[in-house]
Amino acid sequence: MKKTLLLPVVFGLLLSIQSVAQTDDVKTVMRSLYSESLSNGQSYQMLDYLSNTIGARVSGSPQAAEAVEWGRQKMEILGADSVIMQEVMVPHWVRGKKEVGTILSDKIPGGVQKVPVCALGGSIATGEFGIKGEVVEVHDFDELNKLGEGKIKGKIVFFNRPMDPTLINAFEAYSGAVNQRGGGASEAAKLGAIAVIVRSMTLNHDNNPHTGAMHYADGVEKIPAAAVSTNGADLLSKFIKADPKTAFYLKMNCQTLPDEKSYNVIGVIKGSEMPNEIVTVGGHLDSWDLGRGASDDGTGIVQSLEIIRMFRTLGIKPKRTIHIVLFMNEENGLRGGTKYFEQAQKDVSHKYIAAVESDAGGFSPRGFNIDTDQISVNIIAKWKPFFEPYGVYDLKKGGSGADVYQMKKLKAITMELAPDSQRYFDIHHNKNDVLDKVNPRELELGAATMASMVYLLANFGTGN
Ligand SMILES: [Zn+2]
Repeated sequence: MKKTLLLPVVFGLLLSIQSVAQTDDVKTVMRSLYSESLSNGQSYQMLDYLSNTIGARVSGSPQAAEAVEWGRQKMEILGADSVIMQEVMVPHWVRGKKEVGTILSDKIPGGVQKVPVCALGGSIATGEFGIKGEVVEVHDFDELNKLGEGKIKGKIVFFNRPMDPTLINAFEAYSGAVNQRGGGASEAAKLGAIAVIVRSMTLNHDNNPHTGAMHYADGVEKIPAAAVSTNGADLLSKFIKADPKTAFYLKMNCQTLPDEKSYNVIGVIKGSEMPNEIVTVGGHLDSWDLGRGASDDGTGIVQSLEIIRMFRTLGIKPKRTIHIVLFMNEENGLRGGTKYFEQAQKDVSHKYIAAVESDAGGFSPRGFNIDTDQISVNIIAKWKPFFEPYGVYDLKKGGSGADVYQMKKLKAITMELAPDSQRYFDIHHNKNDVLDKVNPRELELGAATMASMVYLLANFGTGN
């Protein structure tokens, strides 16, 4: 009886002594990570090579294959204990010749007004003569369905619901609008539409069409789907109001080629004490084609690679094993993330305790969105004091990265780096996704923040 009363006291005392010592260690390690990243970081140079020398990396493209080989070599040079090439078949969609989009109305001087458009990823082409039809503007699927087949059949449907500018988190605004892009074509096709045009997913008013994935529902006729710039969308809406007979001409030359063999590239840093427990960290190596995939998601890739370099340079030895994963095909299929999850599920000799992704841009890191129950979120949130000196304070419940969220099914705590979101959709999936839109210092802060979180997870676990 005495023993059972005494034990927790002694144990508690031991724990508190240990945690004080660990706290000092953590502070020292994190300070060294931030100093190393900000003084000697290589993330920007790596991003330069990835985005400029290799360029855009659509799944299945030669550039994507080149990026895979670059990633493999980089991991070996930076000092990963081993590199695993995880084979995965990916879709191969190509845009083809630049698209044409024209508003046609008697209210326009000369009758025609060109607007910037691009095919949505995965769309079919329009055929060599293009598609012409009267345009019906809607803002959501309810409005579309209320109009019904009678008003939609044979027409081009124009989805024009903007991202909500009053939402402070730009990702929430994106989530509130993006179903038009992903599912609009099939919803409209069910009512007999011949094509869809979708307002670009951005809070900006500009002339850049933003691409992104769209999906055809099974058993529904496939129709072409394009994005129009936000200024183009406003113009089209204006002409429709002035002239209900306003029509649109669309020409797109994209096509889907046979699937290609590709890889997730996995760098392994073996754990010194618990090698069978794994912390996964990564970003996605593929990108869209209009820019150069610098922000989305070159930033997440180089931040992940920096973890290997900094751990080696600073002599940080994680207690648990780390998988640094360059995921393939996040943008238009998620085949890489799914393959990694499936292999992890089969891998009974390892326990996957946490998975962290950086796929929300290279802007100043503010925190992590943690996709787990509140009790586990609270455990991670206790690390907040370690991050606060670096302007990182937001460790809260939220959605994790697309490539890692399935790891939840294995009881891993999944999360995503949450940088400042305000400018992310200015450059998302359009021609401005290039190196000079990434600030080196903000990128380096993100790399140090990712490395710190991975260090904490690998050495202190998740309490699960
Ligand atoms: Zn991305």
